Amino acid sequence: MSETTIFSKIINGEIPCEKLHEDDHCIAFNDTSPQAPVHFLVIPKKTIVSLSECMQEDINLLGHLLFTGSKIAKSKYLSNWRTVINTGEESGQTVFHLHIHFLSGRKMNWPPG
Ligand code: AMP
Repeated sequence: MSETTIFSKIINGEIPCEKLHEDDHCIAFNDTSPQAPVHFLVIPKKTIVSLSECMQEDINLLGHLLFTGSKIAKSKYLSNWRTVINTGEESGQTVFHLHIHFLSGRKMNWPPG
């Protein structure tokens, strides 16, 4: 798994995105293949392949990603949403740079497929 992913190219500005938020630690942008009326991703600027690669030192960063996504969702007047982190190919992870999906705007089913 290469460290150069489409998301690292978004972080360094090589490819564009529909950016919703950026700070020193993360970027949030709309998913190009939305699975719900609202579907955005929050990613760390730090190169982390997946949740399973996170270290003790990333605890604050992980909280920051969740809190930032929640603030964005609330700024869109949402009160219901689903957060998803796919970890590993079998879970559905296709981009090997940690990202949190925020999905909203439709009824969600459980269990997920
Ligand atoms: P996952 O399958 O959990 O790894 O999610 C990767 C997500 O990245 C998918 O929902 C894709 O639609 C999304 N995606 C891939 N390329 C881009 C891009 N250039 N801009 C925004 N979202 C993207």
